[in-house]
Amino acid sequence: MSQSSDLESKLTALQQAATLKERAKTKKAFSRLLNYEADLMSGADHPVLIAVQTFADVAADFYRVPRIKVFYANNELGVQWNGLTRAAFDNWIGFDPDMLQKAAAKYGTHFAENVIAHEIGHHVVDRLGFAGIPRIANEAIADYLAGIFAGSKGLDPNGFAQFLAEQPPDGKDYPHGPERHALYLAGYRTAAEYTFQNFQAVIDDPRFNLRLALCQVVERYC
Ligand SMILES: [Zn+2]
Repeated sequence: MSQSSDLESKLTALQQAATLKERAKTKKAFSRLLNYEADLMSGADHPVLIAVQTFADVAADFYRVPRIKVFYANNELGVQWNGLTRAAFDNWIGFDPDMLQKAAAKYGTHFAENVIAHEIGHHVVDRLGFAGIPRIANEAIADYLAGIFAGSKGLDPNGFAQFLAEQPPDGKDYPHGPERHALYLAGYRTAAEYTFQNFQAVIDDPRFNLRLALCQVVERYC
């Protein structure tokens, strides 16, 4: 069996086993947030969120996913560092504009775009059929996809890469900082090298086997 088909069958098994369980867990975790819909919407006219929505539209267009609406959310609603998303269930992403602005001041002007690309990466993970994979693998792929977006759009990768490298070991939901840094830059270099116009071009490019690349990421964390 080739390395590729071996990984494919492992992935299929993982998807079948994990999807229902993972979805039930995620649904429970987000049920609290559903009650805050009104609060989320009330912050949507914040200037930072308007800018974030513009980036989100560009990223959604790049990935050819439906428009993803940006909402205000804070720590109480579940934002710990940058953004949160419930990709499997809806087309929205929550951000705390003040937190994002502060981080952008520290990590550079393209930091926010990269955070958005990471969050939208979770939506793309679902649409690629990886919805049921463990959270840590989902995060790894989102970092990689953020790199693909940043490389294709010619964004400055340094601030976000630094942010990722500085993340302390989490040991559960996220790969270690240096690994996240490496995944993001791997996506960035690939996209910059092949100059993709949109994500479909990444998928279609015969020089680059995206699915195999993603399967390898998943395998590392499962
Ligand atoms: Zn994430």
